[in-house]
Amino acid sequence: MSKSPVRAQAEGAGRVSGEENSAVGEQVSPKSIKGAKTDKSMKASKAGKAAKAVKAAGAAEAVEAGKAVKTARTGEGGEAAKQAQRAGKPESRLAMVRRARKINRELAEVYPYAHPELDFRNPFELLVATVLSAQTTDLRVNQTTPALFAKYPTPEDMAAAVPEELEQIIRPTGFFRAKAKSLLGLSAALRDDFGGRVPGRLEDLVRLPGVGRKTANVVLGNAFGVPGITVDTHFGRLVRRWKWTEQEDPEKVEAEICAIFPKSEWTMLSHRVVFHGRRICHSRKPACGACPIAPLCPAYGEGETDPEKARKLLKYEMGGYPGQRLAPPPDYPGRPAAPLGTGDE
Ligand code: SF4
Repeated sequence: MSKSPVRAQAEGAGRVSGEENSAVGEQVSPKSIKGAKTDKSMKASKAGKAAKAVKAAGAAEAVEAGKAVKTARTGEGGEAAKQAQRAGKPESRLAMVRRARKINRELAEVYPYAHPELDFRNPFELLVATVLSAQTTDLRVNQTTPALFAKYPTPEDMAAAVPEELEQIIRPTGFFRAKAKSLLGLSAALRDDFGGRVPGRLEDLVRLPGVGRKTANVVLGNAFGVPGITVDTHFGRLVRRWKWTEQEDPEKVEAEICAIFPKSEWTMLSHRVVFHGRRICHSRKPACGACPIAPLCPAYGEGETDPEKARKLLKYEMGGYPGQRLAPPPDYPGRPAAPLGTGDE
């Protein structure tokens, strides 16, 4: 398995904080440390890996062609090499923060079009879509909401829905009885307590039925422009792989990541990380060999490192497939998703 030069150092940090037994740590071999001894060899190795990753990225060529190569050949690849020289020393908090911010900048170039992957036209639609997205894909929600919002366009309409009819419409999203109950409750609360409008404050949103902190942050960040970190399964997995945090609890993850980045970055950072998790850094088989941020990743090598094989793991626009939104933003480089029942989903 190939190893990242930042891995040993990040693992050093883990050892200092009592993380000797992390799964990542157990995968380091003496060979990886030995291989990271010189600036020269690391620069060459990183440039080669990044170039291969970019070559393999196919549709993603895109984005990151120049970028990953540039990163590896110039400043950041060099810095990674210097970090490797110091392998064995724990990564300082300052070094981790700098590396995290670099990853964010890289992801901003890879996914300049990152966005919420739920279709919505107003705060109410985003709130409802986010509630429906629990335990299912954004794609399935997007295929379900056109009929839902055609029938119940406002909180007043939805609050007055016949429960069984509402359940049948949202049935494809799963857990439809519980979700229908939440939608009826939150619509009635919006009608009765907020004049039929979605409130723009966290403390009001989390009091609505079926609305937790994650849903509230999605709505605040994307419908009200209030900066927020959204910790979903992808976000949590990636920030732990990158050693930005060791926390498992979403609220603790949120607090630690908020402390690394300026507020102005929080919402877009969330989208970029989730985009990366859905397209390249998958849960079971990350496509490390096609990953433009490989030089900055302590977990490089946890997934497929062969560029050709890794390229085949890429999803959505990176792999040449449709996205999750039926109505994606104009700058989205991929194809829209197909409506439910067309046989093309
Ligand atoms: S795919 Fe994930 S684990 Fe692999 S190098 Fe990229 S960010 Fe790291």
